[in-house]
Amino acid sequence: MNITVIGTGYVGLVSGVCFAELGNRVICVDKDSGKIDTLNAGGIPIYEPGLKEMATANRLAGKLSFTTDLSGAVRQSDIIILAVGTPPLPSGEANLAYIDQAAIEIADAMNGYKIVAVKSTVPVGTNERLATLMRARTNYRFDSISLPEFLREGSAIQDTLHPDRIVIGADSQSAADTMTLLHKPLTHQIVVTDIRSAEMIKYASNAFLATKISFINEIANICEKVGADVTQVAEGMGYDRRIGPSFLNAGIGYGGSCFPKDTRALIQIAGHVDYEFKLLRSVVEVNQDQRFNVIRKLETIFEGELRGKTVAIWGLAFKPNTDDVRDSPAIEIIQHLVDNGVKVRAYDPVAMSNFQALFGKARVTWCENPLDTAQDADALCLLTEWDEFSKIDLGRLQTVLKRPILIDGRNVFNEENLLGTEFVYYSVGRPSMN
Ligand code: NAD
Repeated sequence: MNITVIGTGYVGLVSGVCFAELGNRVICVDKDSGKIDTLNAGGIPIYEPGLKEMATANRLAGKLSFTTDLSGAVRQSDIIILAVGTPPLPSGEANLAYIDQAAIEIADAMNGYKIVAVKSTVPVGTNERLATLMRARTNYRFDSISLPEFLREGSAIQDTLHPDRIVIGADSQSAADTMTLLHKPLTHQIVVTDIRSAEMIKYASNAFLATKISFINEIANICEKVGADVTQVAEGMGYDRRIGPSFLNAGIGYGGSCFPKDTRALIQIAGHVDYEFKLLRSVVEVNQDQRFNVIRKLETIFEGELRGKTVAIWGLAFKPNTDDVRDSPAIEIIQHLVDNGVKVRAYDPVAMSNFQALFGKARVTWCENPLDTAQDADALCLLTEWDEFSKIDLGRLQTVLKRPILIDGRNVFNEENLLGTEFVYYSVGRPSMN
């Protein structure tokens, strides 16, 4: 099939590359000419394992191309997939300016029947509104499809090529059939729904996953007080098939460009129809507070006197295997530390430059590797569970720290790892070791 994907970010680029991998002819469009230049020169503007190799192979095979020319791309395609950003507005609502603009540009470029599929996460009713917007600008026939995306950064290719399910929201049977055909090679689990339900499935899924995380984090907080171990609790819960083992890892809470934004947006969506989503409000509140667990532990250790201390931070990305720092817990944690006179030394294997672009370079000492970061620090906080950190020689680590204090915000280490060391060790929802 001839496909145009609009928006070459974390979602659009991976989708475009994977559709090309399946044998389609794909044009990826972005208005950011810097991104397109990088892609045309064989580079990749984001960090996503395996993406560069797959993009290069398909580009060289002539199945994948990159351009800023949206009109030209639309005219050559039968299916247009929208994957532009829908970032949060200060109110928590999704900013639909980018998707509106892209829909207008598509309508103006139409030269025949097309399927217009929205992969971006958009509030219920947006597809219908976009269709109305487009119909006012073009006489060519088109069908709207809601095609929500469920990939996870860091395993985006695997998730795209082997999804748990594909959701297609359509009000045209023939368009639904075409989209089913396109996704058939990926999975048999294709759910065709009406458009509004498909839009809702995306928000409901993310809200449910966020709820699981906040739930286990609250259980962890109670475990700390009653002397239970949340890892054992989660294991014992997870064998129950009604619960399942995933998303039961206690830590410093979720971040990233999706869960924080989509939970807030769903609260707004409910509010617009006079429904107060009390449960989800609490999920957001718990998550916000969980970040400060690390700070509270530091305050306990240093008896409230953080000023003048040096704290090493391992991990800036909101999760491992990505360079995405949008709404990463590290932002607020580091902000709080520097605001309170703490000298922060920080390191992340791939997310350092994105973090600096967001946070600024001043006020933090940026380090080259994990051990260099820990040098002469009063305490070390692990905020992202990169593999690199779990492989560190803890014996060596304790010699470079000024004091062997480790706050493990992601429960990477365990008692066995720490045996024979002098670490004062705090994790989340597990007994501390002194
Ligand atoms: P992103 O910010 O990484 O990328 C969006 C891209 O769209 C940018 O490169 C931007 O330049 C481009 N763009 C904006 N307006 C454009 C226009 N008019 N024409 C051409 N290009 C335009 O965003 P993302 O993380 O890929 O997310 C995209 C959508 O997918 C969002 O709605 C998000 O909620 C949803 N989503 C994201 C993830 C994820 O893990 N990142 C997962 C599932 C769903």
